[in-house]
Amino acid sequence: MPYKKIQADYTITCADSEPLARAIVVVDDGGYIKEVAPADTYSDVTNYKGVLCPGFINAHCHLELSALHRKIPKHIGLRKFVDYMRLRPKQNTDEITQAMLAAEVQMYANGIVAVGDIANTTDSFALKDDSDMYYHTFVEIMGFDPKIAADRFRKGVMIFEEISQIGRSHGSLTPHAPYTASLELLLLIKTYNEFNDTPITSIHHQESQAENELFMNGTGEWANLYAELGIDINTFFRPLSATSLAFVWAYLARDTKVLLVHNTFCNQEDAEWLMTESPETHWCFCPNANLYIENRLPNFNYFLPYSDNICLGTDSLASNEQLCILEEMKTIQRHYPKISLPTLVQWGCKNGAKFFDWILLGTIEEDKQPGICLIENLDITQLKLLPDSRSRLLVGTSNSNAILEP
Ligand SMILES: [Zn+2]
Repeated sequence: MPYKKIQADYTITCADSEPLARAIVVVDDGGYIKEVAPADTYSDVTNYKGVLCPGFINAHCHLELSALHRKIPKHIGLRKFVDYMRLRPKQNTDEITQAMLAAEVQMYANGIVAVGDIANTTDSFALKDDSDMYYHTFVEIMGFDPKIAADRFRKGVMIFEEISQIGRSHGSLTPHAPYTASLELLLLIKTYNEFNDTPITSIHHQESQAENELFMNGTGEWANLYAELGIDINTFFRPLSATSLAFVWAYLARDTKVLLVHNTFCNQEDAEWLMTESPETHWCFCPNANLYIENRLPNFNYFLPYSDNICLGTDSLASNEQLCILEEMKTIQRHYPKISLPTLVQWGCKNGAKFFDWILLGTIEEDKQPGICLIENLDITQLKLLPDSRSRLLVGTSNSNAILEP
């Protein structure tokens, strides 16, 4: 089959420093990039209006929560959101499976080719085994009391052992958040990941002010929650007079590659300090979920100097209207109009591929198989996203079925 040649107003390759005007991207029928040629090199070209970019990497999702779409009210704050999650009625397996399948179809249609996905159960594993998408599954473990660390860890390992580490499915263990992890649990997770040669992990980080209050003073909504559950945290927990980052860094980020997810209440001092101490750590932002739950965004100005370490995620359909990286970019650009589209595309494509070591993904350059996404309906002269901008995949990453349009 002859190579397919596609062209749009601009191509953001994430390999070149500037967007390329009317570049011709040549792909084979397996979706491998053969050439990125200057405009007018070829005549048998399919033209599109808009911007071409690599397939998106959704660095943080919870596929198994897809059946909770629109089940939890907005803006209730993380404490009430967690209560809802804890106390929710059990959903049946069919409902969960159908919702996950629909969510995956939605992600792929929106241009996402790879996902860093949190799992607390094995619910999503069969789907992942059978998928063209890349998945890194973080099996999530929680337990604030050190006495339960070994038991919770053992249960997490049992779930982890169900992931078939073949093809595009990989995984590691992950703690949920600083306010649900003991030092003992962090060390068990870290050691296990290193032993299994997957020394990458993630953690929800500074998603609420209460998390910092707990680590600063031992007070606040999370301390209250444990008291309500009849757990006396004073028997095993001492506040650090510091934000939760001190705890995460000391036991996790020091020599493991960690994705810190949310960072809504992370201050500039923390950001600067961590990037000096642990430059391999990556920040993952899920702005639409932050607006959904806390109605607040991280201060992106603090993180802009570390643009190479920023990834984007959707979080789950429990706290998002859709699973779409372009929608996350639109939200960021609406609040931070100075952040350019090429920068946002770097966050949504290249950086996630770098974090997860997906070497074929993330950039449009020769011999890669990144998927090619088209962003349409944007302000092409200013290269700005508009409220109606949308994305779709033109070329997929499957060897057998990469060309999605004739
Ligand atoms: Zn999450």
